[in-house]
Amino acid sequence: RTVYVNGDYLPEDEAKISIFDRAFLMADGVYEVTSVLGGKLIDFDGHLKRLERSLNELEIKKPAAFDDLIEIHRKLVELNGIDEGLVYLQVTRGAPGDRDFAFPDPETTEPTLVLFTQAKPGLADSPAAKTGIKVISIDDIRWGRRDIKTVQLLYPSMGKMMAKKAGADDAWMVEDGFVTEGTSNNAYIVKDGVIITRNLGTDILHGITRAAVLRFAREAQMKVEERPFTIDEVKAADEAFFTSASAFVMPVVAMDGETIGDGVPGPVSLRLREIYLEESRAVAV
Ligand code: PMP
Repeated sequence: RTVYVNGDYLPEDEAKISIFDRAFLMADGVYEVTSVLGGKLIDFDGHLKRLERSLNELEIKKPAAFDDLIEIHRKLVELNGIDEGLVYLQVTRGAPGDRDFAFPDPETTEPTLVLFTQAKPGLADSPAAKTGIKVISIDDIRWGRRDIKTVQLLYPSMGKMMAKKAGADDAWMVEDGFVTEGTSNNAYIVKDGVIITRNLGTDILHGITRAAVLRFAREAQMKVEERPFTIDEVKAADEAFFTSASAFVMPVVAMDGETIGDGVPGPVSLRLREIYLEESRAVAV
């Protein structure tokens, strides 16, 4: 596989970053994941805008190649022959000479830019989307700026393992009695034809797929309510699903061992998945 590091396209085993890189020492970096369907980038513009926002919020300098990011994505997709899969991008505050809590001077420390691809044949025609997946609920003990897409992913990663140990596929996190989001996705329920998902704030990531799906839902005259919901509401819902750039719209059929709705992917979830795939493929770049 060919990867990109700070201006160079290299075989993955020749790509190197410093042990002083602040992402390695302090999780001082942000990332984006863009999916690829038919060799084209899905929702690229949204991911680029959110990257810019994450960088601004953390006062990380834009990498010199910022304006070339679409070309770098396209070149990696081409070099690695990706038809279905994803492009991972990470920007870190860079590697000053010493470890220090204070941010280094941006005049002398350049940000690190890394990109790589992952092939995922069958991404759009996912078997999991046909059966639906199972989730458990766990406490949300993450930091308070979840709207910034940092590489601080240890707790979400632990949440995924808690789910696996419980015989489920993923975890939805709960704070003050309400669902915030999934370990790596935004959470939704459907009740009496209304699509309900938590409103945006600093407590969840502003999903790019979320924005697109809500826009398509409203265009299709579906009712949308942006508000927090509880685990009891999930269990009593007609349907549940999540959205993310790498899973699109994924039906959820059980919560904490209890069946949701009929225990199979619901019509609203499946329709939204279909609309999302169709509409976003049509405008892929
Ligand atoms: N919430 C969290 C915590 C996530 O990690 C992700 C995916 N990175 C999402 C939501 C979904 O965001 P997007 O649709 O932009 O992939």
